Amino acid sequence: MGRRPYGETRRTGPHRRESEPSESAVTVSVAGDGAFRRELDRRGSDPSERRWVYVPYDQLTDEIGPLSRLEPEDAGIVLVESAWKPAQRPYHKQKLALILANQRHFALEQAERGIAVRYHATRAPYLEALREEIRELGPLAVMELAERELRANLAHLAVDGLLDVEPHEGWITSPKDFEASQKPQPPWRMDAFYRHVRRRTGLLMDDGSPEGGKYSFDVENRRPWRGDPEAPETPDFPVDPVKAEVAEFVEARFASHPGSLTPAALPATHSDAETLWAWALRECLPWFGPFEDAMSLQARDLFHTRISFLVHVHRLLPRRVLADVAASDAPLASREGFVRQVLGWREFMRHVHVRTDGFRDLAGSDSVDDRATDAPAAPSALNATESLPPAFWGTTSGLHCLDVVVRSVLETGYSHHITRLMVLSNLATLLGVSPRELTDWFWVMYTDAFDWVVEPNVLGMGTFGAGDLMTTKPYVSGSAYINRMSDYCSGCAFDPRADCPITPFYWAFLERNEDRLQDNPRMRLPLASLRKRGEEQRRLDRRVTEWAAAELREGRPLQPADRPVASRSCPGARP
Ligand SMILES: Cc1cc2nc3c(=O)[nH]c(=O)nc-3n(C[C@H](O)[C@H](O)[C@H](O)COP(=O)(O)OP(=O)(O)OC[C@H]3O[C@@H](n4cnc5c(N)ncnc54)[C@H](O)[C@@H]3O)c2cc1C
Ligand code: SF4
Repeated sequence: MGRRPYGETRRTGPHRRESEPSESAVTVSVAGDGAFRRELDRRGSDPSERRWVYVPYDQLTDEIGPLSRLEPEDAGIVLVESAWKPAQRPYHKQKLALILANQRHFALEQAERGIAVRYHATRAPYLEALREEIRELGPLAVMELAERELRANLAHLAVDGLLDVEPHEGWITSPKDFEASQKPQPPWRMDAFYRHVRRRTGLLMDDGSPEGGKYSFDVENRRPWRGDPEAPETPDFPVDPVKAEVAEFVEARFASHPGSLTPAALPATHSDAETLWAWALRECLPWFGPFEDAMSLQARDLFHTRISFLVHVHRLLPRRVLADVAASDAPLASREGFVRQVLGWREFMRHVHVRTDGFRDLAGSDSVDDRATDAPAAPSALNATESLPPAFWGTTSGLHCLDVVVRSVLETGYSHHITRLMVLSNLATLLGVSPRELTDWFWVMYTDAFDWVVEPNVLGMGTFGAGDLMTTKPYVSGSAYINRMSDYCSGCAFDPRADCPITPFYWAFLERNEDRLQDNPRMRLPLASLRKRGEEQRRLDRRVTEWAAAELREGRPLQPADRPVASRSCPGARP
């Protein structure tokens, strides 16, 4: 049989069109007639009447929601592989492969346990694919959609009663938790939310008090890493025919998308997810806390777990990872550090995204309409409008910290939290890059970026684009922080204590934003230090920043020899 074009659907089973052959209970329409389709056909199940559930790409679980309450012989699932999604933005190849490989493996796993599977591949938006399915199957059950973009696309189906939307059981906290811990209007704070949900869930609580006597061990968890203890290697995963086929498909169809694709780095089966999580618990968790903020050339992911993608698509359930961590015998500072990320930050981000309608309503009114506007939100409290320099797409910048982190993102679709915050966002913010443009870069480049999590992290936290909506101050620093927390400077042409341009970027940033930040209590000290800098020094800060921004804009690497220097009268002038 020849190759079936992407988007063509083959229907079998009870709702088959008269003219089509009945080959099995599964509906298959994927790019080509390869390994995935053959495997799905082989698992074909009884096509009798079933309750049909739509399983979006980020609800790949049978442990929660309507699917968990149906016997396999009574259940059918619809999965949609839509070329519309990658048409929205040029996602990293590894990200596309992770989504497709997980979705296809989930389909196979469900067919294996007797669930009828309709796998619909299309060039059209999800709405059209589901309309077609609904015409044959009737209304579909689904858990609430996490991504606003998908909610907006399917809003009419929900309003027309064609999608039977049930609460999303993957979240651990509810809007009530958010409201109980926050003022009705912003600013909103994660710490208050976290303390509230620790008390409400009883996680790491002892008789109503936090284990260890305090809610956060953040202050202890700020050690740089100098090679000891040894950092673990992230595991590889078997490359089966389904993953190989996905990889081939992505390489061929999305050749112009950024990033490399590594098939052995695709945790895509249920068993891969278990392998990664067992490794994370064993190898990462014990040291997760103390080295949470460290960065290194020697071990770029250090003790971070790399589970974010699998948690967001529900191959690993958040409540399960939290229970495992709470019950583990890792030190409390590590357990608490991890719990704060998943129960605190992850859930908080989602509430902020919903309450602000994806940052479109910064006043945070409590009723939103996903259909109101599809235009992306572009808040920029610091009036930052510069374009993202080509260095973020892989052109060498000469700033070693930036270059090594960008390289790792291009290679893997991942880097850990502090590299995102204190290298990528920090530099973009210091250079006055538009928060929206940076958000869109993160969205395409990171495998774990979905709108509800990437927008709050970049617009809200990384760039201060939304002002003090959810963070108390901009997360910016000069070279001293990067030098203290990493070994990046050892391989750099610049000297962090002498001519590194990031420190002048920092001072020039403060000067540019002095008026906007002067009422912020947490900026009082940095602004007081700025005021102690002489006019000559400030002029040099501006010149270095303008020079660097212009060079980077043109895609030219910065060289120490080209850096503007102080005139002889300026204290600290180079001889
Ligand atoms: C500028 C910027 C952009 C970011 N973009 C994203 C993004 O698109 N998607 C994303 O999942 N995270 C994002 N984060 C948060 C964080 O960096 C990642 O969740 C984390 O690095 C994922 O890697 P990991 O699984 O190894 O996490 P670990 O460090 O092992 O942490 C464990 C888990 O905690 C959760 N978590 C930790 N911090 C956050 C957070 N701030 N928000 C939400 N969940 C969190 C994740 O589920 C993560 O898997 C961003 C942070 C910054 C500063
Ligand atoms: S010297 Fe400056 S540019 Fe170079 S790695 Fe260190 S902080 Fe980055």
